[in-house]
Amino acid sequence: MDLRRALAEVVGERHAFDDPELAAGYETDWTGRWTGRSRAVVRPADAGEVARVVRVCAEAGAAIVPQGGNTGLVGASVPRGGEVLLSLRRLERVGAFDPALGQVTVGAGATLAALQAAVSDAGLDFGARDSCTVGGLVACDAGGARALRHGTARARVAGLEAVLADGTVVARLSGLVKDNAGYDLPGLLVGSEGTLGIVTAVRWRAVPRLARRVAALVPVESPEAAAELLGVLRAHVSSLEACDFLTDDCLSLALAHQRRPAPVARRAPLYLLAECAADHDPLEELAAALGEREASVADDTASREGLWRLREGVAEAIAALGVPVKLDVGVPLAELGAFLRAVGEVCGDARPYLFGHLGDGNVHVNLLGDAPDEDGVLELVLSLGGTISAEHGVGVAKAAWLERARGAAEVAAMRAVKAALDPQGILNPGAVLPAPITAKLANGPRPA
Ligand SMILES: Cc1cc2nc3c(=O)[nH]c(=O)nc-3n(C[C@H](O)[C@H](O)[C@H](O)COP(=O)(O)OP(=O)(O)OC[C@H]3O[C@@H](n4cnc5c(N)ncnc54)[C@H](O)[C@@H]3O)c2cc1C
Repeated sequence: MDLRRALAEVVGERHAFDDPELAAGYETDWTGRWTGRSRAVVRPADAGEVARVVRVCAEAGAAIVPQGGNTGLVGASVPRGGEVLLSLRRLERVGAFDPALGQVTVGAGATLAALQAAVSDAGLDFGARDSCTVGGLVACDAGGARALRHGTARARVAGLEAVLADGTVVARLSGLVKDNAGYDLPGLLVGSEGTLGIVTAVRWRAVPRLARRVAALVPVESPEAAAELLGVLRAHVSSLEACDFLTDDCLSLALAHQRRPAPVARRAPLYLLAECAADHDPLEELAAALGEREASVADDTASREGLWRLREGVAEAIAALGVPVKLDVGVPLAELGAFLRAVGEVCGDARPYLFGHLGDGNVHVNLLGDAPDEDGVLELVLSLGGTISAEHGVGVAKAAWLERARGAAEVAAMRAVKAALDPQGILNPGAVLPAPITAKLANGPRPA
């Protein structure tokens, strides 16, 4: 039987289609840089249907690209040519929040915004909140500004349910805080970018809600001055929750895009955006730590959100100018200055726009222009002891760099795990690990 028809028998005619017009919305990513045709799009309603879909694909030797909100930035959420696009968006059920445990079970297709609305505080937030899904952000081990205090998605996962490459369902959703019986399969699936299993539900660990919040945008003269101020904040502001940065170029772009005046009188090469949260008013301790420094301090919700809109709006302002090459890298804080000063010299004819999460040494490098040299930037990162991926994942964009970044021994161990869990190599082939693990795929992607 034709593969689409076999999939339609599982999910119904409306939810399995290969009409190019219907499929188009699933085949190009948020940046517009990554695009490819799928063999069919399939939209199961629950974990049972996901398992049956995977079994049908495994029997046909058809490769699968799992997709949530399609806001991933490394090319792994869209087909590269001929895979079945498996959308998890219909698995959007959000269970009842358990305040005693501070946990909730949430379907992989629920958006981050829906999760945030259901719990005390999800402990994770970023600009794609209205579109990105819990399954997708767990698959990427997403971070965001608040990772400084609460860790990345990994720290929020108390367990999960997933479908493996042969259609087996594995589930650990009890929410037990202490459970060290055996290997930690959920931990293995977090950050695996759809290459080891398909996440269908997540047991999410919320954080206590801290109602009093203050943010400040502080102009700083250099990366070294930014790092020094971060040190002061860490030492003296116990309520520090986030500490992002953006360059003056990025601030100008966001201001122009949003048609807003600058929130600070003095322009500087860099700006640090810090947020503090506590159950008492954190304004005093933040003001004391900032001392005589000039800053735009926002102690009400509207002005605080206004400052974050500038920082989060940078990506959209860049996208309005063209399709950027996006590199999400991490460098040791001590090397941040060296990186920011050198990146313009190694990125070819492109113009670099730089912003990110200072507290994690996480820089979002956006290259706009005719001949961006992404390899030059990644070389620089590795020469400074950094990482090629901090929170967006490796995807297909940086798969060829994995061995340089992690070494042959670690990559061999990763391949062994992949081969054990997905011997046919049908789950998101070409993502994370550079090439399909076997050549058995029917209509699989072209090897790089
Ligand atoms: C405006 C904007 C701001 C962003 N800001 C941040 C930020 O601050 N911090 C950060 O970490 N990231 C950020 N991101 C990128 C981030 O990776 C994604 O927003 C999010 O993690 C992906 O979720 P998604 O549901 O859209 O996943 P998708 O884009 O659909 O998929 C991403 C990857 O996960 C896999 N996947 C998706 N769902 C599943 C599933 N259920 N099971 C297994 N694999 C799956 C896909 O195959 C793909 O490899 C941002 C993106 C945008 C567009």
